[in-house]
Amino acid sequence: MTAPLVECPACGRRTEFSPRNAWRPFCSQRCKMVDFGAWASERYVVAADPPEDGQDGQNAQTGDPPDVAPEDQRAR
Ligand SMILES: [Zn+2]
Repeated sequence: MTAPLVECPACGRRTEFSPRNAWRPFCSQRCKMVDFGAWASERYVVAADPPEDGQDGQNAQTGDPPDVAPEDQRAR
C-alpha cells in the first residue's frame, strides 16, 4: 500500500498523507502551526466583529449617561 502524496498547504512540498504523518496534510509541525496561526487570527477578526456590533446596540438601548466617567475623574 502506498500512501497518497498531498501538497503541504503551507509550503507546497509533497508530503505523505497517512497516519504515519502526524502533521498531514502538512509536511511538518512547523508548517501546520504556521497555517493554523494564520487561519486562527483571520477567524478571530471575523468572529470579533459581530459582538462589537451587538454591544453598540445594547449601549444605545440602555442609554447610559455619558457623564458617569467624567464624574468619576473629578472625584479623584
Ligand atoms: Zn510544509
